[in-house]
Amino acid sequence: MRVIDLSHPIQPGMPLFPGTPGPRLEPLASLEREGYVEQWMGMASHTGTHIDAPAHLLPGGRGLEAFPAGHFVGPGLVIPVRSETLIRLEDLAPYEARIRESRFLLLHTGWDARWGAPSYFEAFPILETAAAEWLASFDLAGIGIDAPSLDPVDSQSLPNHRAFLSRGTCLIENLRSLGAIGPEPFLFSCLPLPFRETDGCPVRAVAMRPAP
Ligand SMILES: [Zn+2]
Repeated sequence: MRVIDLSHPIQPGMPLFPGTPGPRLEPLASLEREGYVEQWMGMASHTGTHIDAPAHLLPGGRGLEAFPAGHFVGPGLVIPVRSETLIRLEDLAPYEARIRESRFLLLHTGWDARWGAPSYFEAFPILETAAAEWLASFDLAGIGIDAPSLDPVDSQSLPNHRAFLSRGTCLIENLRSLGAIGPEPFLFSCLPLPFRETDGCPVRAVAMRPAP
């Protein structure tokens, strides 16, 4: 198996959505004092590369624990939309048959090249509403993007989030390295930690395919 890492590292000082507090790693035990190392790990549920569950926005919406583990693993498809600031339905429509065969659709904008720069959270590429509503009509387990969000950074109503989450399609945000996956079929995995009643969770997203 070749496993391609699609997650950004989680560390103090990392890029964060405006208003999100940073992750904290604090020592609970050390080799010198206790003879072993243990740390307190604290972070917002939408830190770094992470998944959004319906409970993020919808009253009574499912949390991540309501999905079986198998929901988070399945055939993936990368659609290149590299030159776009607005991802339009016409960019996606040629992939209709392949989207139908996939469980995860990953939008490759190349925006992850700005990870660490202030401009990462400004004017990133987003889906036009018609494209989001069209994509939401497929039976996708998840839709991912190598940018901060499927809605603009200042959006209050988050219509694209709602279109997907109301149909049980989870969102995977802040992916990276989608260009490293290549054109061959692959298995995508974005397993969250099994916290109870979670609206979202950082994930170690990967693409897997047989080694050449
Ligand atoms: Zn999120």
